[in-house]
Amino acid sequence: MQRLALFDLDKTLIDLDAAFLLWAEEFAEQHRLGRKGVDHLISLNRNGLPHRELFFAKVRERFKLSATAASMWAAYRRRMPRLVECRPEVMTGLAELRAAGWRVGIITNGTPDNQLGKLQRTGLAEAVDGYAVSGIEGIRKPDAGLFEIAAQRCGMNPGEGGWMIGDNLVADIEGGRAAGLRTVWIDRTVRPREEHQADHVVSDVMQAIALLHQDGGGS
Ligand SMILES: [Mg+2]
Repeated sequence: MQRLALFDLDKTLIDLDAAFLLWAEEFAEQHRLGRKGVDHLISLNRNGLPHRELFFAKVRERFKLSATAASMWAAYRRRMPRLVECRPEVMTGLAELRAAGWRVGIITNGTPDNQLGKLQRTGLAEAVDGYAVSGIEGIRKPDAGLFEIAAQRCGMNPGEGGWMIGDNLVADIEGGRAAGLRTVWIDRTVRPREEHQADHVVSDVMQAIALLHQDGGGS
């Protein structure tokens, strides 16, 4: 199996929840929503609304804000790239994988401004061999096409295997499997554990990187 490691971005390489909390505190302050406002934003986020525009429609309704949902969503996309961080140990982990002969890529669903902004602000864009953003390519995980684009950007052949590492069971794990990749699921769910078909389950991306070094791409 070729030494290809594709990583999801949000909640895999970067802690999106920590960035969201910072954003929620800023937003609540701007709109004078108070601590209860922050808590409400966090609980709305936790409920996993499928799209941020719907999230902002609910926020607007709840707090009777005059700005449109679309404009708040646009402001969010401008701000979030400045609030996310990639831990130094994760940056080092990716560099060590590449030094060990792995090609490393990032595959993420989302809008070009938000996702590309995060990749560039964190330094991840420069730290990997290639990346594929759904909003740029016009195709989303779990569609195998986005995995193929990411593999090609890394100079590898789609269909010759590799690994996909991510926190979403559908987009990352089912998608990765359908693209012929072995998978590591970063399990952030509360127990009981969900049904899954991942090859490995870990709680943090550093454990996934350690697994790849053990595997060596050989099995
Ligand atoms: Mg994710």
